[in-house]
Amino acid sequence: MPEPALPAYAIEARGLDKTYRGTKKAPPAHALKAIDLAIPRGAFFGLLGPNGAGKSTFINILGGLVVKSGGQAAIWGHDIDADPMNARGAIGIVPQELNMDPFFTPIESLELQAGFYGVPKAERRTEEILRAVGLWDKKDAYARTLSGGMKRRLLVAKAMVHAPPVLVLDEPTAGVDVELRRQLWDYVKRLHGEGVTIVLTTHYLEEAQELCDTIAIINHGRVIACEPTEKLVGRLDQKTLVVLPQTELTAPPPGFTDVTAGLRQNGALAITYRTSEHSVEELLDRVRRAGVSIRDLSIEEADLEDVFVALTSG
Ligand code: ADP
Repeated sequence: MPEPALPAYAIEARGLDKTYRGTKKAPPAHALKAIDLAIPRGAFFGLLGPNGAGKSTFINILGGLVVKSGGQAAIWGHDIDADPMNARGAIGIVPQELNMDPFFTPIESLELQAGFYGVPKAERRTEEILRAVGLWDKKDAYARTLSGGMKRRLLVAKAMVHAPPVLVLDEPTAGVDVELRRQLWDYVKRLHGEGVTIVLTTHYLEEAQELCDTIAIINHGRVIACEPTEKLVGRLDQKTLVVLPQTELTAPPPGFTDVTAGLRQNGALAITYRTSEHSVEELLDRVRRAGVSIRDLSIEEADLEDVFVALTSG
């Protein structure tokens, strides 16, 4: 049989909706409001949003842990309702919580998981995967004796046993130290290089900006932005001029009401302005005319953090 054509989208959601039923203690929650989201095959995709935005709900619907209330979703071209087996087989999800059986060793965990997915013994890549995540020397240690970072990497390994073309990482580096984060990203980048589509949720916007080629921002159950990272960051035509004065200021000089001016802890005057409305030259001129002599200056670009705040506040 010829191989079926590769899908354009690794994940495609149309009008995806979810309302959690209320309980005695909590009212119903409309967690996803007719979400349309198409994640291109081969993307390194960031799914960002404040707490309670609906990210986990979205991921859990894909993973079959939460039942949607409406709309459609497909993974690797397989509809999650019509073809749940193939849909599930196309995705690996690294969960947020470090929930694992403390009495299994990494090698046992992976073998069990492979069995669960029906991966034939001859096709298992247990050693290769454990080596890739740096856990081969811990292969016979009980999970309860592993460090937090090691457990996290074991979860990534478990998500990869059935060689899914789509890997979803839900807050994978929360509480993981810098060195282990780098190791984890090295492995994820390698998988991406081999063609695996990566979907990442993270609170570290810097990390998302650095790693992801495309970013979607969810807020209150709606997708409020979805575009290439560069374009998203460029959306805010905003820069900050930072001037260190010769003599200390007690307040920003008057006359800067059309921009955002403030004093920083180190005494620097920070003026945030729209590049379409002001030039550095003009602003420096005004600073000098306000009687401030300049000891040093720098210009800061807007980053994902600024865009995120601008889009999700209010
Ligand atoms: P995020 O992952 O972006 O923090 P969630 O998907 O966890 O957001 O939550 C979205 C909304 O759905 C929130 O208002 C949350 O309180 C609600 N919610 C999430 N899970 C449940 C659940 N099991 N039962 C009821 N409400 C839920």
